[in-house]
Amino acid sequence: MLMEFLKFNKTCSHSKISPDVDFAYCPDCGELIENQWYLVRCTCCGVKLKGFIKNGKIIPEKNYCHNCGNHEFTVERIDKINFIDISYAVLVKATVETSQKDVIQSWVDFKTPNYRPRLLQQF
Ligand SMILES: [Zn+2]
Ligand SMILES: [Zn+2]
Repeated sequence: MLMEFLKFNKTCSHSKISPDVDFAYCPDCGELIENQWYLVRCTCCGVKLKGFIKNGKIIPEKNYCHNCGNHEFTVERIDKINFIDISYAVLVKATVETSQKDVIQSWVDFKTPNYRPRLLQQF
């Protein structure tokens, strides 16, 4: 009973998944986990902002860009993390739905489903 409970416990943070692999099975909950990296950038000057996850959303650590003072930001997915970006990037451990491998829309637990980068105003 306890094992079954743990298996379906959605609060698992998959903390044993190493950040340097693309995919791995979580030893705590058995889910297939994909490490997804995201970078937060200023929409004005494009500088990288240090980000973190709050309430399931990726947001910059500071309210304003340290380079230009802008308040707007975008979040971009990066395929491969590199050494330079790792201090800025946000790691999302997303659960992969393995029962529907052939369907591309089978990703679950995507942490920012409603995020839409705001368009820059044209002047
Ligand atoms: Zn887990
Ligand atoms: Zn900026």
